[in-house]
Amino acid sequence: MNELQDWFAYSSFRPGQKEMLNKAAETAKHGGVLLIDAPTGSGKSSVVSALLAERNNRQIIVAVRTISQLATYMRELELIRKKQPDLKFSYLVGKSSMCPLGGFGDPYRKCEAVKGFSTALIRERADRGSLDPTKDKVIVEQIRKNDPDHPIICPFFIRSKTAILNEKAGGMRLAPSDACKRLAARVIERCIRPDMLREACDGLCPYEVMTQASMQADVLICNYHHIMDEQIRNQLYLNLQKEPSEILLLIDEAHNCGDVMQDIMSVTLDHRALEQADYDITSLKRDVRDLEAIRRLIPGIKKFLDGLRRSTEAEDWFDPQLFSRMILRESLYGTMEEVVDDFMDLAESIKESNSKRGDYRTTGIERLSAFLYRLHNSGTNPAYLTLFRKDSENIYLEVRNIDPSPGLSTLAREHFCSVYISGTLTPLRSYQQLYFRALPVDYPISSFSLPNHFPKENRLVLVTSDITSAFSKRQSDDNIKRMVSYIRNFCTIPGNLGVWFPSYQMLESVTREVEMHLHDREVFIEPRDSSEAGSLLTRFMSLPGKGKKGILFAVCGGKFSEGLDYRGEMLTGAMVIGLPLAPWNQVRQMILQYYTRQYGEEGRFIAYTLPALNKVLQALGRVLRTPEDRGVLIFGDNRFLDPSIQERLPSWMQEEIHEVDIRSFPSVMQGWK
Ligand code: SF4
Repeated sequence: MNELQDWFAYSSFRPGQKEMLNKAAETAKHGGVLLIDAPTGSGKSSVVSALLAERNNRQIIVAVRTISQLATYMRELELIRKKQPDLKFSYLVGKSSMCPLGGFGDPYRKCEAVKGFSTALIRERADRGSLDPTKDKVIVEQIRKNDPDHPIICPFFIRSKTAILNEKAGGMRLAPSDACKRLAARVIERCIRPDMLREACDGLCPYEVMTQASMQADVLICNYHHIMDEQIRNQLYLNLQKEPSEILLLIDEAHNCGDVMQDIMSVTLDHRALEQADYDITSLKRDVRDLEAIRRLIPGIKKFLDGLRRSTEAEDWFDPQLFSRMILRESLYGTMEEVVDDFMDLAESIKESNSKRGDYRTTGIERLSAFLYRLHNSGTNPAYLTLFRKDSENIYLEVRNIDPSPGLSTLAREHFCSVYISGTLTPLRSYQQLYFRALPVDYPISSFSLPNHFPKENRLVLVTSDITSAFSKRQSDDNIKRMVSYIRNFCTIPGNLGVWFPSYQMLESVTREVEMHLHDREVFIEPRDSSEAGSLLTRFMSLPGKGKKGILFAVCGGKFSEGLDYRGEMLTGAMVIGLPLAPWNQVRQMILQYYTRQYGEEGRFIAYTLPALNKVLQALGRVLRTPEDRGVLIFGDNRFLDPSIQERLPSWMQEEIHEVDIRSFPSVMQGWK
């Protein structure tokens, strides 16, 4: 009989961990959805042990967002394998990082096209009796002639396949080559790190090898998109020869699920894509059907964009009916349906002819046709908003999905069970509503919250009563002066510190005021450009090792607020100034109306405050990473004193939080040393 203990990699459980794993095991046994909110250090990745204990021959898929999360699960599974030597696990990461084939454009499109051409070639040669493509002279010659920048066939795929006679159905079918099978078997025994994979595959396709390995794996780790994007998910399960009902899902860092699902279901068109579409059409030959009619649509769309450019709003809703009327007015079309059909046909024919030339870039026509298709099909669905955004360089039209519940509920219904886990899934009830409203009321769904078992005496949780980022006070001199004073006093405690702001604008204005007063620490400011972020963070984190200390000024929800492990002296205090609510405008108002219709009064919290609260908890969560870490966590906005927000904080924070003001704060900081 499978016991949890048999699959648990450690000699003892951390406080509360056994209860969490039992709950997960129960869900794995009976099916349904489980949401787990478990703070850092509670041994979340061991939930996979609970699923293994009750998997009953089903496959486990762990969905992660980052390579470091993938590495965490690989380590956990390696440890379990010491107890259970027959355990098989594998992973799949995106094709952009796995694929060794050169060329430009979308790696998925390139792969789909070269696999199609390569498969046709292997079949054609197999029909002539040449079953091993690696030994076939014609194929070898084709590979030699393949242009590395514009590949038509894929030598890595060809080496990973062999043709075999399909005795039952007649004809040929492709199967993994012996080399591919051998390597997959090796990978299953001793997992190869993603950065070593290409080299280890030695001329074979890493994706094919890992797919082959994944078919035999008890646990497959893959990225969110493999699971959340319906098209990619269907293809994955086809490759694995599995039905979703045979799969137990474990979704890590689950507070991100809603955003990821909404992004996948949204589509954006920028003015550059429109220019590109115009150019694509102009450079096409005249023999494409209905080209003139399509060409006459572009000025109407440009005129619409130009009109929006004059708007004073950085983000606003646009009327899809007005958009349609405007582009139909001077066109040869009677309905948007005809427009969408012709655009889709044109996009498909361009895609096909480009692929034949080894060009896998996404054309402007395709972007425009995808946008028009989504606009036409969801423009009047209240779960989709039609909006525009502007920045200094570009203007974007977007059909944005604002409700992840239907997509996530489908995912839950299809799979045998799904466990969603995160360190910041507070309040669980709100996430349950946000993610699974569309599930039937009798669907088995439960939640589990683990207390923080790190020693209380190692932390200080404060809320300031006299500063805020609320719009009405944001520019007030007194408010800013107090923020500066808080930061100066915060700097009296030892070690590296972090201060997070709701926006770059506020970060820049407060930092300008405070920087000149910070003499004994190095100041680090989060750059807008991500290319400089890595080296800046490395320098910041290395300071304590050199006996120095610094202060990092960053943005909530930015590059330095999630997924980073600042242990020990690397970060001994975090202060979040303000509540990082999204800018209030008509779009936000429409989102709120939608959510209030769905959830009543609670909708306002779910749609508007919950994402901001999560960003704050993520930033503050960087400090206490191990039971030995000591640190100060500060909610720097008086709105955290409001019971409607405070009662939604994790329970340990609610119990420990102390109110301070600018007069009491210096002595509280002195006392912390
Ligand atoms: S088959 Fe493999 S190597 Fe070839 S394009 Fe696809 S992912 Fe890349």
